[in-house]
Amino acid sequence: MATMRAKCPECETWVPLPKDAIEGERVVCPGCGEQLELINIEPPELDYADWEDFSDE
Ligand SMILES: [Zn+2]
Repeated sequence: MATMRAKCPECETWVPLPKDAIEGERVVCPGCGEQLELINIEPPELDYADWEDFSDE
């Protein structure tokens, strides 16, 4: 069973991702609480996200 995960750009904690994660998936780092966005699937890559910009979507 392969679990997708990507490294937090802030604290380098490995952040678990849903197996059906898509580009743009939003996750919170369990290590530092940073709001992150999945910017690449293969390989999984996270970048900082500002969710407040999308809250009224
Ligand atoms: Zn982090």
